[in-house]
Amino acid sequence: MKSFVFIQSEAGVINKNSLEALCGIQKLSSRPSITAITFDEQSVETLSGYNIDRVLHLKNPLLQSYNPLAYVEAIQKIIQTEQPNLFAFGHTYEARDWVPRLSARLDIPFISDCTKIRFENNTIFTRHIYQGKIACDLTSSSETTILSIQSGSYRSDEVDSGSSATVENQEVDIVEDKRISQEDKFQESKGTVDLANSDLIVSIGRGIEKEENIPIAEELAQAIGAEIGSSRPVVDYGWVPHDRQIGSSGHIVSPKLYLAVGISGAVQHQVGMKGSEAIIAINKDKNAPIFEIADIGIVGDIFEIIPKLTAAIKEHKQKS
Ligand SMILES: Cc1cc2nc3c(=O)[nH]c(=O)nc-3n(C[C@H](O)[C@H](O)[C@H](O)COP(=O)(O)OP(=O)(O)OC[C@H]3O[C@@H](n4cnc5c(N)ncnc54)[C@H](O)[C@@H]3O)c2cc1C
Repeated sequence: MKSFVFIQSEAGVINKNSLEALCGIQKLSSRPSITAITFDEQSVETLSGYNIDRVLHLKNPLLQSYNPLAYVEAIQKIIQTEQPNLFAFGHTYEARDWVPRLSARLDIPFISDCTKIRFENNTIFTRHIYQGKIACDLTSSSETTILSIQSGSYRSDEVDSGSSATVENQEVDIVEDKRISQEDKFQESKGTVDLANSDLIVSIGRGIEKEENIPIAEELAQAIGAEIGSSRPVVDYGWVPHDRQIGSSGHIVSPKLYLAVGISGAVQHQVGMKGSEAIIAINKDKNAPIFEIADIGIVGDIFEIIPKLTAAIKEHKQKS
């Protein structure tokens, strides 16, 4: 089986979700041949250090910055000439924008936002439907299938290293299509948090009760060097900005530690954080759904537990 993974990157900074997609392909029990495909020269060296067969660097000035029409044309040519069985992407905002167009252009299926892929005689793609309530398995009868992997479904730090990848640079002809023109790149406002790349997150739910109580959680976050995340109600009340919301209508995160305080664990919230490496939940309701996915569950009152936890962490830091 022949697989390609598109690596989204800019000036050598590789998108974490692309690496997660690569990890998913590497973990297939019947390991396919893997080609990592990039438009970014500065990423080639890093990619060649992974356990893959080939790095294919496509070169054209139109591919230097995000250009959906040029991207489609370049990858369309590669799929037509190389005919891979699987063509994987991270389910990034860019991929959501241009990959459906690629799928339509080539008339091949795009199974988006997969949480798992596995091989059992055939490749099986798992994706969630109905707001994450049901996981369904899909197979494809197409010679080539495009898929995207949901952020957090695999771990970027589990991508296997290797030393036998060949590197191929290929010029690609692209006819410039001016139907979509580029504006200046969107600049996120100063101080915007990058939760998707945070290793530690303390996430606040409605259990925090009121805005004035948020500093209790912030102090804990500060003590362990974590970012603050939140459930949707906390954002809806206007207590924290939307860029901190985690869940189906917020960010999908996969930190090393996710500390959920006063969060019930509704399915729409779980969708955004269940890929975390370790989940600690504090909730006074022992039946809260968050405990079903927590590695450590603490049944109790956050207003009693958090100050004690923060104090203990500070004391420990002082001693060490
Ligand atoms: C289309 C759609 C999209 C959505 N998108 C998102 C999303 O992106 N993210 C998201 O989070 N939600 C989302 N939701 C909302 C989601 O369904 C839940 O309503 C929400 O996640 C609940 O947030 P919560 O856990 O903070 O609040 P609640 O469900 O009210 O839970 C509060 C928890 O705090 C506990 N608690 C209360 N006081 C204390 C205390 N003193 N100590 C300890 N524990 C305490 C309670 O036992 C309870 O379990 C979406 C809903 C819809 C319909």
